[in-house]
Amino acid sequence: MPIQARSPASASSSAGFYPIAYQVELHRPEAHLLRVQCEIAQPDPAGQALRLPAWIPGSYLIREFARHIVSFSADSAGQPLRWHKTDKNTWQVQPCAGPLRVTIEVYCNDMSVRGAHVDSSHAFFNGTSVFLAVVGQEDQPVSVHLPAPAQMASASWRVATALRRHDASGPHEPGQAVSGHDTSRQQTAPWAFGHYHADNYADLIEHPVEMGLFELHEFDVQGVPHALVISGRHYGDSTRLVHDLQRICDTEIRFFGAPAPFDRYLFLLTVLDDAYGGLEHTHSTALLACRDDMPARSSGNNALSDRYRTLLGLCAHEYFHSWLVKRIQPESFRPYDLSQENYTSLLWLFEGFTSYYDDLILRRSGLISTESYLELLAQTITRVWRTPGRFRQSVAESSVDAWTRFYRPDENTPNSVISYYTKGALVALSLDLQLRQESAGLRSLDDVMQLLWQRFGKAGTGLDEAAVIAIINEVAASDQTYRFQQYIWGREDLPLLDLLPQQGVALHFRAQEGASDNGGKPGRNEGVASLSLGIKAQAHAVGVQCAQVFENGAAQQAGISAGDVMIAIDGWRITVANLDTVLGRYAVGDRIMLHIFRRDELQQHVVCLQPAALDTAYIVIDDTEKLHAGGWLNEM
Ligand code: ZN
Repeated sequence: MPIQARSPASASSSAGFYPIAYQVELHRPEAHLLRVQCEIAQPDPAGQALRLPAWIPGSYLIREFARHIVSFSADSAGQPLRWHKTDKNTWQVQPCAGPLRVTIEVYCNDMSVRGAHVDSSHAFFNGTSVFLAVVGQEDQPVSVHLPAPAQMASASWRVATALRRHDASGPHEPGQAVSGHDTSRQQTAPWAFGHYHADNYADLIEHPVEMGLFELHEFDVQGVPHALVISGRHYGDSTRLVHDLQRICDTEIRFFGAPAPFDRYLFLLTVLDDAYGGLEHTHSTALLACRDDMPARSSGNNALSDRYRTLLGLCAHEYFHSWLVKRIQPESFRPYDLSQENYTSLLWLFEGFTSYYDDLILRRSGLISTESYLELLAQTITRVWRTPGRFRQSVAESSVDAWTRFYRPDENTPNSVISYYTKGALVALSLDLQLRQESAGLRSLDDVMQLLWQRFGKAGTGLDEAAVIAIINEVAASDQTYRFQQYIWGREDLPLLDLLPQQGVALHFRAQEGASDNGGKPGRNEGVASLSLGIKAQAHAVGVQCAQVFENGAAQQAGISAGDVMIAIDGWRITVANLDTVLGRYAVGDRIMLHIFRRDELQQHVVCLQPAALDTAYIVIDDTEKLHAGGWLNEM
């Protein structure tokens, strides 16, 4: 039962009856600083501990957010209290009768979806970066006061968050203005500064907050209020994006079955010159994109650019997570332990299957054509086939090791790691096509997803591998255990060359044609033997740097190392721009003299040129009638 917290933070901000009251102030935006107060009505009589998460759910890397806390102080009724740190994330305050007030300053200069960023133009933060958990009281309801900044420049700023607002009937004291531009009207108006609340600490950190001058579009999907907030300058057609988002959301709600599992949803999109990323939450998502990813302003041309298609795929991906990973969860995430790594071998399901469905949802909702979908699918296959690490690591192993490997890539990553996103998506594809084939089109992976939602997501029960396989066996009406375990624990390629033709499409492989060739389309020079050095090349001031050297490629066999800078082939200067042209003078089996710099030392190596691997996929429709009859890529 909440008790009344009469504290400086809550008393001055009409927070009402909450045992824990936070206040987040734009303190010194020019120094990227937020000031966050936490008021605890009944602190632990033995001395209160407060702790900041070491990671943020959805991004599986220990990020040590506590390193950005630049000051910490504690007092009770104005009397300063002593404190000390007990570990890198935890502060221990001396016993007091209460209420206890803790004040921190947080440095916020991380322009990503995972942290916090504050400057004079806006503020964005995740709760994991700014809200100290009150140890022992994590289940208590909390209030959050966001006072309007006093700075004149921010007078017309608004607030976007899926945190619940106090409404007029809620426990606040109307008319009690606090500071700056905060007024009683703003206390209850949507998108305004004022008072918010959360059920507990886990709920509190699920709702990132944006403050600033943003573009706001509100829309409705199946009776649920949705909004798109766009921060940052752009020249795109927001109306088109809203229209397309509506179709994506509607398709996903129908996919899992109405009603949606949330009563509100917010897309928080920040557009920059060069950025890409998304992070899922229970009632919102934070997204980063390039301004060129936005749809062009309408000129009567309805074609989707590749970049806009990628942005829509990102939106579909994060929204799909509202079901898969925010509500259908691995047992080990219930609840999250935010002080250390939370291991699961199931990221191939939570990220891989979500990656399979993100593009498929674009097709199912009619936003992209079948051909466009098959191009995206072939690009995913290309990424997997270009990763030698798939023979060293399974997707289940990759899931467990996400914390130290997938999230901490280095020059050897392609040789040692497989992405649970891309190969996980192909596991989903293989399973989907198999279920469709063996049931003559009556059952599919959609049935597996819906059962996962009904039995685990809706019921709030944690998931493990055995439960996933049991549901697959149930949908297949046969024992798929051995085959499926091969997919997720095995290191062989998935049987796509056999499965895709049964849907009326054929998968082809060819050699890569240039650095920008991501697959998805037939090649221009197919049939012409092409050469490979077996490296990922990147521009360098004096030549071409080997960013990565692939397992068993020509360069590795000749002793070339990642980091080496190639400067000449047989005495001819090479650059990223002319490398393909120079190599084009040679044939498979030719031996070339390669001059390189390793650090500051000039070396020469003889390289025997190999044929380029056939690792670039494209898919063609062989039998339109068969494809349509199977239903796999039909609109929903
Ligand atoms: Zn994801």
